[in-house]
Amino acid sequence: MNRAAVIGGGIAGLTAAWELARSGQQVDIYEAGDRLGGAISPVSLAGVQVDAGAEAFATRTPAVRDFLRDLGLDEQVVSPNPLGAWLQLPDQAAPMPSTGVLGVPGNPSADDVIAILGAEEAARAAQDLEAPMTWSQAHNPALGEVVADRMGPAVVERLVAPITSGVHSADPYDLAISSAHPQLYQTMLTQGSLARAVTALRAAAPAGSAVQSLHGGMNTLISTLESQLRRFGASIHLNTEIHELSSLQADAVIVATEGRQIHRLIGTSPKAAPAGQRPDQGQSAGVALVTLLVHAPQLDACPRGTGMLVAPTVSHIRAKAMTHISAKWEWVARALENQLGPSHHLLRLSFGRITDTDGSLGFTSADNALLNAAIADLPALTGLAVNREQLLDHTVVRWQTGLPGGSTQQRSDAQQVRELLSARQSAAGPGIAVTGAWFAGTGLAQVIPDARRAAQQVLSR
Ligand SMILES: Cc1cc2nc3c(=O)[nH]c(=O)nc-3n(C[C@H](O)[C@H](O)[C@H](O)COP(=O)(O)OP(=O)(O)OC[C@H]3O[C@@H](n4cnc5c(N)ncnc54)[C@H](O)[C@@H]3O)c2cc1C
Repeated sequence: MNRAAVIGGGIAGLTAAWELARSGQQVDIYEAGDRLGGAISPVSLAGVQVDAGAEAFATRTPAVRDFLRDLGLDEQVVSPNPLGAWLQLPDQAAPMPSTGVLGVPGNPSADDVIAILGAEEAARAAQDLEAPMTWSQAHNPALGEVVADRMGPAVVERLVAPITSGVHSADPYDLAISSAHPQLYQTMLTQGSLARAVTALRAAAPAGSAVQSLHGGMNTLISTLESQLRRFGASIHLNTEIHELSSLQADAVIVATEGRQIHRLIGTSPKAAPAGQRPDQGQSAGVALVTLLVHAPQLDACPRGTGMLVAPTVSHIRAKAMTHISAKWEWVARALENQLGPSHHLLRLSFGRITDTDGSLGFTSADNALLNAAIADLPALTGLAVNREQLLDHTVVRWQTGLPGGSTQQRSDAQQVRELLSARQSAAGPGIAVTGAWFAGTGLAQVIPDARRAAQQVLSR
């Protein structure tokens, strides 16, 4: 039996540790914080436990479903209410077009796209279907650059930016297309059109909803991994920040932390940003999430579907997104009803954009300021008069890790680290592999398969 050390007890580290442990390795997991899970964690309001961080996984590939099946969690997979989310623009609120990927429309002439873009901008977007393809393999562009070129800047502003900002905490002009969606660029080159690429990717994705979760929330995945790891004999060391790899007694090491720590641990330094590009900070500016429990019969009809993504150009709302948690997940609505009775709702508002300037609400704001802003935003976000008297409970949670930004600069930095590491590996020293959102891109659909590959790489040595 070999001894392996895994640094970082987020989903990447736990997934890699699980692969190693089930193959018979003696695994030590070192986590700096006082709990496992990283950006996946539970929070409780009035006795109902929901996710405080990541709450779902993308189904565009079977990677997460396969992992859940291997863990015996297949039966607990749940799909969201098919109502879908809405978009808030400066001049209107409208349901998100149904044929898109990352907001990029598969059919620029669809009625729900024209409703948001207007006929003129929709016609500009449709030019993508005819225009010659000028992008190539040689480029490593940002998502916003490609969409603006193929379909026009209005598509970026009104359809793409609300999603990249609300979901990835990234500016579309700074988010590498490869990080936002690993297949989108290549499929566009093959199809000769961005819209046709979107349609092809949607057709190739497994049938059903674009995201899924687990009954009880994604935090169920962490508690399951923890108990299976303990059963395999893995040792879990909480409150143990690793500063030096040389301090570890191990034949193999997997580093599953975020950018800054990775550079420090493996002795590399961030690549200098090319002139004119924002340097990668190795850490996101962070987000603050305010979850509200309200008694509000007026929300029973789910006025904004499963939630709302707010375009960065909207000035009258301070939140960048709202998830109507109890409208999105049936198990949450049931738990609320059983615990508290009818017409109770959970809503989660997120604050903090990558493009924020000083004075904006976000990661560093005080709890009270965030709560006040969340309550003040509710009427505009739901289209209904919901007020402070209806508030029964609330929590404020802040996140700075798990959202590495995914800029082209960050992606090439991560790639360079992996190349350096593979050049450095010698047959004699301990095998070192790196994984996590900083390498794989934000989101469980990218992080989980990457972590499994990292573990296989270590096992194959
Ligand atoms: C608010 C929020 C909502 C999200 N929602 C979704 C969603 O709905 N769907 C989705 O797919 N993705 C979502 N994501 C993204 C997803 O959660 C992340 O991409 C993923 O969880 C990252 O996992 P990770 O293990 O790479 O990193 P992390 O979760 O950041 O874990 C890294 C761990 O390493 C530990 N660590 C760091 N340095 C050291 C050290 N030196 N020694 C020991 N331990 C160390 C940290 O304490 C941390 O626990 C969300 C992210 C956030 C923040």
